[in-house]
Amino acid sequence: MKSGKLVVLGSINADHILNTAHFPRPGETVIGSRYQVAFGGKGANQAVAAGRSGADITFIACVGADDIGERVRQQLATDNIDIAPVEAVPDTTTGVALIMVNGEGENVIGIHAGANAALTPGYLSRYQQAVTDASALLMQLESPLETVMAAAKLAKAHQTRVVLNPAPACTLPDALLACVDMITPNETEAEALTGIAVTTNEEAARAAAWLHNKGVATVLITLGSRGVWLSEQGAGQLIPGFRVNAVDTIAAGDTFNGALITALLEQQPMAEAVRFAHAAAAIAVTRPGAQPSVPWRNEIDDFLQ
Ligand code: ADP
Repeated sequence: MKSGKLVVLGSINADHILNTAHFPRPGETVIGSRYQVAFGGKGANQAVAAGRSGADITFIACVGADDIGERVRQQLATDNIDIAPVEAVPDTTTGVALIMVNGEGENVIGIHAGANAALTPGYLSRYQQAVTDASALLMQLESPLETVMAAAKLAKAHQTRVVLNPAPACTLPDALLACVDMITPNETEAEALTGIAVTTNEEAARAAAWLHNKGVATVLITLGSRGVWLSEQGAGQLIPGFRVNAVDTIAAGDTFNGALITALLEQQPMAEAVRFAHAAAAIAVTRPGAQPSVPWRNEIDDFLQ
């Protein structure tokens, strides 16, 4: 009998965000109007969304042996997450995203994986019992692919449901897709995976069929404010999201994924779980930022009343 527990395996980044009137040219220095450090990384964002929405969650990840890594760990612990498998890796720095935002709201981003690159199959093997005991494993693609592959195989062999949010967009080996029970690409990621541009329901159905053919039983293509295309057992349907005044859609997909798994692990039927996840993501897009925008369970329940 499985535990009802969730394991999230993924990345942690510190986002350094500098607002400037314009981007500097090579050799130029520009003075910023605002600077902030925000905690991000798709793995951490999804872990936070799962923890705040009520999952019994363990996070497998790496931070650097630095001050910001310790601050991230402390923050994650306050978000209802078991962080025992979030280790500070000696001689590494916490993953960073250096983000400049210009006056038009455009951004340029440079990323350094840092400690995220230390999330190797060897590191995973220290925590494999968490994966084999869990009811579900949620992953993204900001970690080494060989580790994602090893975790997917391990989970599959122990009847742990494998959920993959295939972000950032890329192509994936068939051997990985064969281990995945549920996949949650957005439109861009669905196109990168399948080669089918997803703009209509028919195209979403075709992309879903492509993924079913690779062995994925449940396909959920998120469609931004339109909601999601859900496809399982040969039948597809659009499940619309909630209409809200969106101010910032950063981490919408991460919030959706974390909350979706929480609801599924509570044995909510798929359509209700999607509605729960839509509510969580709808709240998140009405607030600025990534992790600060992720709602707690009582806020989602209130929204749905
Ligand atoms: P990603 O952030 O990965 O690109 P999407 O943009 O597809 O993902 O959004 C994921 C989910 O977030 C949607 O299925 C929906 O539930 C919610 N969402 C995104 N944008 C909006 C919006 N403008 N209004 C309401 N909900 C939204």
